Amino acid sequence: MKCMKCGSEVYKSTTTQAIKPGFGVLVVRNIPCYKCVECDEIFYTGDVAQKIEDITEKVKQLVQEVTVVDFEKAA
Ligand SMILES: [Zn+2]
Repeated sequence: MKCMKCGSEVYKSTTTQAIKPGFGVLVVRNIPCYKCVECDEIFYTGDVAQKIEDITEKVKQLVQEVTVVDFEKAA
């Protein structure tokens, strides 16, 4: 696998990504990825990209399900 930006070698690594699913920021840690030795560009395999989407969807639902606000405090 080569860097799609500059064509250099990439190595296996992990990264942290901040996603904005529409309710603030979701930070996903330890995402397996490939990193370019030259330009630090990060690549995900299709599998990982799909999983990030799945996680985002899951968290969206979770947040909707478990968010409890106190009316008096929230109003
Ligand atoms: Zn590169």
